[in-house]
Amino acid sequence: MYRFSRAIYRELADEIIEDPHSACTHAHHERVLRACEAAIERLATDRHYFARPARTLFSDIRAYFPITAQSRVLHVIERYLAFADEFLRREPNNGYDVYGNPLQCRASTRKGTPCQRMPLPHNGYCPSHQHLAETEELESWVAA
Ligand SMILES: [Zn+2]
Repeated sequence: MYRFSRAIYRELADEIIEDPHSACTHAHHERVLRACEAAIERLATDRHYFARPARTLFSDIRAYFPITAQSRVLHVIERYLAFADEFLRREPNNGYDVYGNPLQCRASTRKGTPCQRMPLPHNGYCPSHQHLAETEELESWVAA
């Protein structure tokens, strides 16, 4: 998965501004790389709760780039996060995420414990909790 964050970083590294007064000459490069990795990791493990990944990553790192580079930064982020998302969608749903953690339904049982059933890839709920996905869609539609 990290090839996506590295690709974003590589495309943008030349434009990152470093603070000339800082003791560490590559602190901002480091922060940009970490932010890209965090966004990719979140996309891979928590995509159902990660509504606007490109916007989120952009607002995390835009301060490290000059004004003139902002639109390019956003384009690069959008392009690679779209690739990463596409890649994740094609992953076979074998019950594990890309890091080998078992996938679980996002709902809780009536006893309040997490539902242990295998979720469907498109919304993260198991077949018996599909009605929750519909409620959620409706809520986000109403909120928008
Ligand atoms: Zn369930």
